[in-house]
Amino acid sequence: MKMKVPFFDYPQLYSLNKNKFIEIFDDVSSRGAFIMQNDLKEFENRIAKYCNVKYAIGVANATDALEISFKLLGLKKGDEVVFPSHTMLASPSSVIINSGVPVPCECNEEGLIDIESLRNSITKKTKFIMPVQLNGRTCKMDPILEIAKQYELKIVEDSAQGLGSRYKGKMAGTFGDAGVYSFYPAKILGTLGDGGMIITDNENFYHEALSFRDHGRKTNSEETIWGRNSRLHNLHAAFLNFQFDYFEKTIEKRRKIAYTYKKWLSNIEEIKLPVYDDDDHYDTYQNFEILCDSRDQLKKHLANKNIGTLIQWGGKAVHQFKNLGFSKYNLPNTDKYFERCLLIPMNVFLSDNQVEHVCKSIIEFYK
Ligand SMILES: *Cc1c(COP(=O)(O)O)cnc(C)c1O
Repeated sequence: MKMKVPFFDYPQLYSLNKNKFIEIFDDVSSRGAFIMQNDLKEFENRIAKYCNVKYAIGVANATDALEISFKLLGLKKGDEVVFPSHTMLASPSSVIINSGVPVPCECNEEGLIDIESLRNSITKKTKFIMPVQLNGRTCKMDPILEIAKQYELKIVEDSAQGLGSRYKGKMAGTFGDAGVYSFYPAKILGTLGDGGMIITDNENFYHEALSFRDHGRKTNSEETIWGRNSRLHNLHAAFLNFQFDYFEKTIEKRRKIAYTYKKWLSNIEEIKLPVYDDDDHYDTYQNFEILCDSRDQLKKHLANKNIGTLIQWGGKAVHQFKNLGFSKYNLPNTDKYFERCLLIPMNVFLSDNQVEHVCKSIIEFYK
């Protein structure tokens, strides 16, 4: 039988722990604990503790988490937010929905926000920087924090892909005024549906966000604010509590696969692999993004071998979407990056044989 390596095997997310998920579903449902119950509180506390921050607020998804963060941290009409164009449309859409102006800048060779380009993108209207902690690697935050300080800008981290990743020992998502995580199924801590989280050390923002996600309700009804509904389902929180029990193992497994890729593929001149740690970084490999020659042919070659690959964001950086209003931005480095980038399979369902099959097939292509 020919070996198959799906890019991400969604049914396995359930089937690998089917009995446990059924047990949790039964327990939560029997308690009638569907909305904002102890499982949510417990999960929020655990994430806050894990990240070493004061507060965590479960919300419906990471896009909501960004929207709510910008709104409550004071983004006003016309305010500019600088972000790297190599990200999901969710990052700039969270600015647009608040009537702000998302300003795309270049990514560097690691796919993360380019410091010089960030600096050059700042104008009198800039109010926020949104670094994106992509692929489970945290940006070099020191220069970003310096720029934020110099120009008095706030930072909202899109760390939807960053849970567990660290820079100088500090967790992705904890450097700025707010950080967000996503629990979308294919994310490193993925539930059986949508889910998201805001983390912060800012007490006022925390209390506002906590009521904003629940129709603006506060314990004292005189203090009610306008809000919306963006609650993290208690059932998902219960699933996530279970999955979080073995989160360190999840990270270990991904790091081991990354190490295997590095061992097999680092001699191929046509490929640039993601770095495997350095003194400042601890990477969790939400994705394994390579830069390679003849990318489209390689993708095809791997598809013929039943190996699923992906070009992130459907193959386009944000500024390359023609009808979304970014035509005045010229980002040649990011354009070049998107001619060469490819995600190869990276998830905990991969067997050693599958990883080996991916490696051998790539080696064969460049021979
Ligand atoms: C997944 C992702 C999001 C959106 O997360 P959702 O929970 O699906 O809303 C935002 N930004 C980045 C970088 C992502 O990878």
